[in-house]
Amino acid sequence: MTDRLAQLPAVHALIAEVSKLSTAPRWAIALASRRAIDAARSELRAGSGGAIDRDAVARVAAGLAAPSLRRVINATGVILHTNLGRAPLGAKAVTEVIEVARSYSNLELDLATGERGSRHDHLRTLLCDLTGAEDACVVNNNAAAVVLGLAALASDREVIVSRGELVEIGGSFRLPEIFALSRGVMVEVGTTNKTHLRDYEGALRPATGLLLKVHRSNFAVVGFTTEVSIEQLATLGRAKNVPVMVDVGSGMLVDANQQRAWGLPVEPTPAEAIAAGADLVAFSGDKLLGGPQAGILVGRKAAVEQARKHPLMRALRPDKLALAALTATLAAYRNDSLEDVPVAHMLALSAAAIRSTAERLVAAFGELTTLVTAVEPCISTVGGGAMPTAELPSFAITLRGSKAGAIDAALRAAAIPVVGRVADNRVWLDCRTISLDDQAAVIAAIRSIDRAIPPRG
Ligand SMILES: *Cc1c(COP(=O)(O)O)cnc(C)c1O
Repeated sequence: MTDRLAQLPAVHALIAEVSKLSTAPRWAIALASRRAIDAARSELRAGSGGAIDRDAVARVAAGLAAPSLRRVINATGVILHTNLGRAPLGAKAVTEVIEVARSYSNLELDLATGERGSRHDHLRTLLCDLTGAEDACVVNNNAAAVVLGLAALASDREVIVSRGELVEIGGSFRLPEIFALSRGVMVEVGTTNKTHLRDYEGALRPATGLLLKVHRSNFAVVGFTTEVSIEQLATLGRAKNVPVMVDVGSGMLVDANQQRAWGLPVEPTPAEAIAAGADLVAFSGDKLLGGPQAGILVGRKAAVEQARKHPLMRALRPDKLALAALTATLAAYRNDSLEDVPVAHMLALSAAAIRSTAERLVAAFGELTTLVTAVEPCISTVGGGAMPTAELPSFAITLRGSKAGAIDAALRAAAIPVVGRVADNRVWLDCRTISLDDQAAVIAAIRSIDRAIPPRG
């Protein structure tokens, strides 16, 4: 053993050898080499192995140097997969982000006067045009928008909310905790399934600061249910001089008719909430709106101004890259060019169109030796805590081989990782969420796996 230990290469020698095989930076090659020698030494001491594979060390070095956060292909069919970064941006939005990212910008400069401007000015007109609101501002995400709205309108005041709307979304957005953060005093009314206008009326007191309505984004209540409409709440609020705030959640900007035409269960829109008389409306930028992570507040001038001027705004304000992406995404809606919003495009795709994409891809795989592919019907979902009941008919490429779990793992280890799902002993790649830009990478991943995975035994 002592002999074999003595034969292990010196660290500098291994670094020199691996450097010939690898373009990874020197620190990564050095770290991978040291780890490989340590591992070989431990193996020898345990009485086995001890060989060092130079190519494996080069692969480890490349992995150490690769960015941790990187592009993956979403083949899950979940359009807004929170673990996969929710909404992908459209090409025009990406161009705008690059433009603003690589140079200086007029983020807080009024170019006409040369005076200091506001970062919220860049989006106000678009947001007001698209929602019918008087004013608008933007923060980091919708959780922040709700915290800010509550803090600005109802800090240390009572906020009346239905027991049927005390939601938890995405694990950490829990309404009672959001209240605690923003120092609004939660006053629950009604029951889980039924809340009436008289429940709100009965809870109104001089200490009431706000009437709050929250969209049940990620669950449905069916059977015997009653809820109070935004219109009814707004009428009550106006009569009692108490503002009304609505968290509509997903930021769906296409109207109910268009949603029905796409075969979707209808999601409330910010424009409807404004038209119904809400004073302040909060929604996400990266759910059904299809833009960057952002939270948007629109509403009456006085209410939005209170939010914009609140000291919390400084901690929650969005950065220039998110603003650039959001402006471009909103402009696509304003210009009726929904093809520039990938989320809208994916929602609108017909099963027939997805089927022909799947068939074209399978044909492009060419001869495979171990994987068996097929095109099979499946169901896509919206995800991201939106439209929990929506089932979108779709088509998937299914892959069978040795073990489905091994194929799935190999796809995730591909040069551009492909994330599918495993069911019924096969891997499903739902083609609804595979974009045109993704197709070449999917073909490359399948071909490389076909060579690497052992044949079915
Ligand atoms: C998703 C959601 C939130 C949280 O939004 P984020 O953008 O994820 O912070 C808050 N309220 C409702 C109703 C939602 O659907």
